[in-house]
Amino acid sequence: MAISSKTILIVGAGFGGITAALKLERQLRNNPSWNIVLIDKNPYQLYTPALYEIAAIPKEEAAPENMKSVIAIPIANIIGKKKIAFLQGELTGMDTKKQIVYTAHGAQAHYDFLILALGSETNYFDIPGLREHALPLKKFEDAVRIRNKVERMLAQRHTLTLVVGGAGMSGIELIGEFSNFIRYLAERTIRDPACHARLVLVEASHAILPGFDPHVRERANKRLATLGVEIHTDSRITSVTPQEILLNNTQTIPYDILVWTGGVMGNPACGTGSFPVTDKKNCAVNEFLEIDSHAFAIGDAAGFIDPRTKALLPWNIPVAEHEARMVTRNIMREIKGKQKRPFYPAQKYPYVLAIGKKYAIADLVFIRFWGFAGWCAKLLVELRYLLFILPFGDAVRIWLKSIRTYTSND
Ligand SMILES: Cc1cc2nc3c(=O)[nH]c(=O)nc-3n(C[C@H](O)[C@H](O)[C@H](O)COP(=O)(O)OP(=O)(O)OC[C@H]3O[C@@H](n4cnc5c(N)ncnc54)[C@H](O)[C@@H]3O)c2cc1C
Repeated sequence: MAISSKTILIVGAGFGGITAALKLERQLRNNPSWNIVLIDKNPYQLYTPALYEIAAIPKEEAAPENMKSVIAIPIANIIGKKKIAFLQGELTGMDTKKQIVYTAHGAQAHYDFLILALGSETNYFDIPGLREHALPLKKFEDAVRIRNKVERMLAQRHTLTLVVGGAGMSGIELIGEFSNFIRYLAERTIRDPACHARLVLVEASHAILPGFDPHVRERANKRLATLGVEIHTDSRITSVTPQEILLNNTQTIPYDILVWTGGVMGNPACGTGSFPVTDKKNCAVNEFLEIDSHAFAIGDAAGFIDPRTKALLPWNIPVAEHEARMVTRNIMREIKGKQKRPFYPAQKYPYVLAIGKKYAIADLVFIRFWGFAGWCAKLLVELRYLLFILPFGDAVRIWLKSIRTYTSND
């Protein structure tokens, strides 16, 4: 009797999707009844925590192809000879009743289990002029565009006002590294000691790093001050013109370059199914991270309400990986005819916050490092991830190349 095979379809090959695919493959490698299919619109996984580095590497140090090879890891290399089929395509619609997803150009794929790991998009909160005039930092191309614009404008004017909207992790990492980038350009490329930039960080909340430990905020504040960053808290951007931002306190700040890192929302593809989305536009899920009995959402795409805090979980990599592990375990339980278990988020997740040059605050839950030690911890976290997704030699080669590339402006 022929065995009819079933499909676990994972859409989105980012941190959550790749973790789910690799974990499932380990379990189902020798099971001919199940296929694992991974779909992504890009043929690579983007290592987002290093995007700020790409936005601050001088052209003479790294061409886009070299930078891409360290931050965009080909999915073909991650999969290798594993029992995972990869399809490049953009999800455009879903029929969860028929268990089908549709991709651009009219293709469709049937699933027995679906994992949506679509990530998130920049949220401009309908602030007039923001989408038109601010540069986002979400894709590889965004980072290169920022880098090119800073370099071009500074070379032309020898003075620049750079405003970053949003003092969460990505805004702080970016503005911290900008200070290094500007110094490098002034000293080594433009060779004008008078060449300088005003670096402004604008945050709507009453403090930078909303939701973080006050000690971490204090350290980050001090570090940013040392780097010459001007911080405006309690300052919500209400509108943006081509020349200036207007704040809720009626102050205006002129800018030459404005980068917006102040908000994320669910991927619009989450809204193409017939299931509910949260007010942040990601997929509403139950305690098992289920959309329905055949479909799950993980990572930024999952609107999971933490039962302890009654709030959505933060949108970060450790949460995406944790949810991916939980969903793969529940799928395996279902395959084996066992009962699913609910998802309990950790009380605290680790993070690493780099703030200019070789300085980082690394909170690994059980221990916290800062300064150069924090930066070393950041390197180890990166190596750990690369070793999880790639063969040993490839992981170490990309890791070493990334250190060389990212420190080239130090
Ligand atoms: C600049 C920046 C810096 C960050 N720094 C950190 C950090 O230091 N630490 C941290 O924990 N978090 C960080 N984050 C957040 C982190 O990147 C996300 O929380 C994490 O990537 C979420 O994982 P995910 O699997 O849900 O989505 P992602 O990793 O974003 O993956 C989503 C995948 O879905 C694909 N996709 C999207 N739409 C479609 C579609 N319609 N069809 C097919 N494929 C699609 C995308 O190509 C992508 O590969 C950062 C984010 C940014 C933007």
